[in-house]
Amino acid sequence: MADKARKFPDNVPGKFYVDEDCICCGACVDAAPNNFKESAEGDHDFVYKQPETETELQQCKDAMSVCPADCIGEDGED
Ligand code: SF4
Repeated sequence: MADKARKFPDNVPGKFYVDEDCICCGACVDAAPNNFKESAEGDHDFVYKQPETETELQQCKDAMSVCPADCIGEDGED
């Protein structure tokens, strides 16, 4: 389960985020290219835009489902 206390600082604020367990496999970018991308350092992926449509929301949920490291959270709003 993802931990919002360990999310990468380059995630945009909001519900979805990637935490430090990311292995940079790219599966989330394939599932939700409008919301996830690789970091400038090339060592992890992160949320660069929160979902704004139902399609993007579903794609972000799909990204959570396929993430092999279980490091995508959706409890980032606080
Ligand atoms: S699917 Fe998970 S482990 Fe793979 S790059 Fe995305 S956040 Fe990282």
